[in-house]
Amino acid sequence: MKDNQKEKDKKKKLYAIITIIVLVAFILASTIWIIISKNNSENEENKPEIAYTELIKMIEEGKIEKVEMTTGSQSIKVKVKDVEEEKTAIVPSIQPFVELVQEKVEEGNNEIILETKGENPLKTILGTFMSLLPTILIIVLFILLFKMQGLGEKGKVYGVDENKTDVTFDDVAGLDEEKNEMIEIVDFLKNPKKYQEMGAKIPRGILLYGKPGTGKTLIAKAIAGEAGVPFISMSGSEFIEMFAGLGASRVRKLFEKAKKISPCIVFIDEIDAIGARRSSSGGAETENNQTLNQLLVEMDGFESDQTVIVLAATNRPEMLDKALLRPGRFDRQITIAPPDLKGREAILKIHAKNKKFANNINMEEIAGDTAGFTGAELANVLNEAAIIATRYKHNEITKQDLEEAVKKVTVGIEKQSRVMSEKDKRLTAYHEAGHALVSKYLGTQTDVKEISIIPRGLAGGYTMYKTNEDKYYISKTEMEEKLVALLGGRAAEKVALNDISTGASNDLEVATGIAKDMITIYGMNDKLGPISLKVNEPYELQIFGEDIGDVVGQEIRKLIDTAYERAQTILLNNMDKLHQVAQRLMEKEIISAEEFEEFFKE
Ligand code: ADP
Ligand code: ZN
Repeated sequence: MKDNQKEKDKKKKLYAIITIIVLVAFILASTIWIIISKNNSENEENKPEIAYTELIKMIEEGKIEKVEMTTGSQSIKVKVKDVEEEKTAIVPSIQPFVELVQEKVEEGNNEIILETKGENPLKTILGTFMSLLPTILIIVLFILLFKMQGLGEKGKVYGVDENKTDVTFDDVAGLDEEKNEMIEIVDFLKNPKKYQEMGAKIPRGILLYGKPGTGKTLIAKAIAGEAGVPFISMSGSEFIEMFAGLGASRVRKLFEKAKKISPCIVFIDEIDAIGARRSSSGGAETENNQTLNQLLVEMDGFESDQTVIVLAATNRPEMLDKALLRPGRFDRQITIAPPDLKGREAILKIHAKNKKFANNINMEEIAGDTAGFTGAELANVLNEAAIIATRYKHNEITKQDLEEAVKKVTVGIEKQSRVMSEKDKRLTAYHEAGHALVSKYLGTQTDVKEISIIPRGLAGGYTMYKTNEDKYYISKTEMEEKLVALLGGRAAEKVALNDISTGASNDLEVATGIAKDMITIYGMNDKLGPISLKVNEPYELQIFGEDIGDVVGQEIRKLIDTAYERAQTILLNNMDKLHQVAQRLMEKEIISAEEFEEFFKE
């Protein structure tokens, strides 16, 4: 569907060929010219058979019957009386010579036939051509260069890698509903007239909401690719550190370019960096205001015949200035969620295409192991797997390579070189054993997949859980128990070692976030009831009472405290198991799902 781009490439080639032809023609013409001139000079100019003074003398003596001249040449042919052959002579200056001959003729003493011939026609044409050639050549080359440049520029707006942006809907997996909406946009771009004649306004701006890596850029590129129109992009984050006024002028230039090459797609990534809600305070905000205002002006300033569709991506829709969302601006919104099980399988299949896999590899299985992964993370997993396979000199990507890659993407690279002190090792072992054990005794938590105390990324160790299915809803019980499992690490440190460490910081962050969401988003708190505390402005919270913040804080604390107590209770009731698992971890560093289950067989 890259007709446009292909066409341009074709044209570019054509222009290159024309340039070569023109150059070759020039070289050929010059060669012919040189040969002809050389012949002429050899024949006529270099070998004067009669010297000029002698010629004059002969004319005066009446020995010459006929003078034959060629315009533009100093070389003449003369017929001498009683001599059969014509002789050549060189005349230093033509006009006085002609006058002299005519004088003689008028005097009547001599009968001289004066003949003036036109130049060799080929030579005349070539001569004129040759004198004009440099000018023609320069003009032609200029036109060609200009045209090629024009095409190049249009191609260049695709980004550095022109070809890579030959993205089509086939490159976008999952997202079937979203794709339907995109197909409509492609049709706007391809047949704007059709809609205009019907009186329909073509949408200007479309906001894509979604986490980083969910394929927003990919979709924007695919729309451009399918419609065969150029794709220009810009990222909002580029403006954060800009000097005053630069942001606004950048936006203006971007849209200037877009209008020039319309129809086209303009993609603004991280629009929240420019389009964050305006506040009355000055300072750094003012610059953003200017940029945002320019963006609003541009969105309103399209002519009806300019088909420029602006796609903007953000992860934080609640941050955006409401003015951006008004009709005629970004009035269409599409949410792009992380892929579900089927979507993940489809994405994996797309990215597996150019890679060699062992036969026993099943993409559905990997999709099952990667719940919550975005498209970018999935693509990354397969790429990492290929790198790992290469490093191990495997002939193809094996299951282990893939599992290793999944871990690398989730928890970071294994740092076998980092030597852990015996004390750290013991602490990590109890911490991870705590997570694993606590979740084992909770009904809603998924099974343990692997426990490790080999440091990876920032984590000293990790406990991985199996993912069985994609869930659309999570129950309150499940969330509460998730908190217990998260606090299991810290609880184990406390009950087994009677001390606590910094190793739980991430667990605490995640747990506190979940507790806060339970109360403020999901209305799962008995005291506050089923209300949402999501508000646009902090003051709006006051409608729930002055002390609403205190209440939320207390309830979060209560959830966490309860979970921490439960985790400790579970561990205290199973201290023998805790010691066993921790001990095994210290010996083996890694425990598989099967080995873990062994501890619970009577
Ligand atoms: P975003 O713009 O949402 O941050 P990108 O569009 O940049 O995400 O996605 C990054 C990469 O992840 C893409 O280039 C592609 O390789 C992969 N990817 C993401 N989503 C998908 C998808 N739905 N299908 C195929 N590949 C995807
Ligand atoms: Zn932990």
